[in-house]
Amino acid sequence: MARTSKHLRNRGGRRFKILLAFALAAAILVVIAATIAVDVARRIPDGVLRAYFIDVGQGDASVILWNGGCVVIDAGTEASAERLSIYLRKLGVSEIDCAVFTHPHSDHIGGGDDILADFTVKSVVMPDCVVDGESYSELLYYIEKEGCPTYMATPGDEYSFGDVTMTVLGPYTEYDNENDMSAVVKVTYGDIDIIYAGDAEARAEYDIIEFWGDDVLDVEVLKVGHHGSYTSTTEEFLAVTTPELAIISCGRQNEYGHPHSKTLANLDKAGASVYRTDEDGTVIIETDGVNVWRCVMGFLGRLYRVDNKG
Ligand SMILES: [Zn+2]
Repeated sequence: MARTSKHLRNRGGRRFKILLAFALAAAILVVIAATIAVDVARRIPDGVLRAYFIDVGQGDASVILWNGGCVVIDAGTEASAERLSIYLRKLGVSEIDCAVFTHPHSDHIGGGDDILADFTVKSVVMPDCVVDGESYSELLYYIEKEGCPTYMATPGDEYSFGDVTMTVLGPYTEYDNENDMSAVVKVTYGDIDIIYAGDAEARAEYDIIEFWGDDVLDVEVLKVGHHGSYTSTTEEFLAVTTPELAIISCGRQNEYGHPHSKTLANLDKAGASVYRTDEDGTVIIETDGVNVWRCVMGFLGRLYRVDNKG
């Protein structure tokens, strides 16, 4: 009996050691996988710029990342603020060279206070447009609290961040319509240009066309104005911008009916490939300064180029 119980004890001990070894191996694997995931998400190869059009529901939030720099254009809604901060952290963002708040509507600046509180924001660009609203007061409070140098969006102003240049295209003048007061910016990397149109509508688009002309406005990628509303993305604006890729940021089954069928028809006629955050989720494009690819995120956050628009 004594022998049997010793034998059983020995078997129990061995089983425990085997289980322990399995548990340790599993823990090591989890740590390795997590490290790789973080590395993949953070590593942007030299000579590459990535533009993320983040799914924040009915709102706008974009981030532009390259090795050594980060620009954020709009910060989504209050409801998506926490999600946006988590997403930026997953991308490895800790410092933001410039945060552009295109105009003071809550679907663009709702997460602005979180961005300013959670990250080191080196500069802010926004239009001279004052509104009553909690999101706007919170934004101003945090700009002051964090001491962020803040610049008024003035057409012709150029901001350089290493190999990346941001040119302010609008607002060209003062408008009563707060959407038309949107800071419209062009981001340039090598031969590739991306216009972020905020919520600028037809009148602002016409002024931008008149002020800048075809050469400056000819771009490869257009972040479509005002969530694809029929009041923006005129045929005239598309005739000068001629984007190959157009991205619309809007919420699933949103109450405004964005994007409008007229906008989609205009984009189709202009020959642009359209991606929408309500259907495609976060849209990611990558460029080497010559070609543009749409990317999808695969295993462990690795990006795969799926659509060459070079
Ligand atoms: Zn909006």
